[in-house]
Amino acid sequence: MTAASNRRGLARRAPSSGVYTGRTQQPCCLCDDHDTSHRIAVPPRAIQLMENGDPIAWRDVVGTVTLEFCESDWAVVCDLVLETGMSPLSRCNVARADFDLREDFEALLNDTRGEPDQTELEERLLAEAAETIAAADDPMTEDRDLVEARVVQLSLRELGVSEP
Ligand SMILES: [Zn+2]
Repeated sequence: MTAASNRRGLARRAPSSGVYTGRTQQPCCLCDDHDTSHRIAVPPRAIQLMENGDPIAWRDVVGTVTLEFCESDWAVVCDLVLETGMSPLSRCNVARADFDLREDFEALLNDTRGEPDQTELEERLLAEAAETIAAADDPMTEDRDLVEARVVQLSLRELGVSEP
């Protein structure tokens, strides 16, 4: 393999690696406060559960969807998720979420290969969530990690991807 083709190969693989540059910080997805303190990442499919999520082509989202929370809302979200076992997503406005949609051009080229498959990403997120929850008593496991793990599990169960 030449150096040039290697570079192209890396560039092509980049979209699935989950590493992006140039992201702008979004406000709190609950109250629009720009002073956010915590963020979680959820699978694109979960967009369907969010406020104003209907028109978004979630299958065309590359990587995860990031939700930001301000300090006071984060405390509420922690209680809701960790104490009540409920997901905050229905109250999160997708307009304040951060995600990358495939370029139209790229989507056009990919049409012949069918819809992008979100399964791989969802399986990885579910595996990570299960690992985090299994380590819930570990002092290194933070509330943020547990909230993210529970929201991933709750949303994919609600959408019928994983078993309860
Ligand atoms: Zn807020």
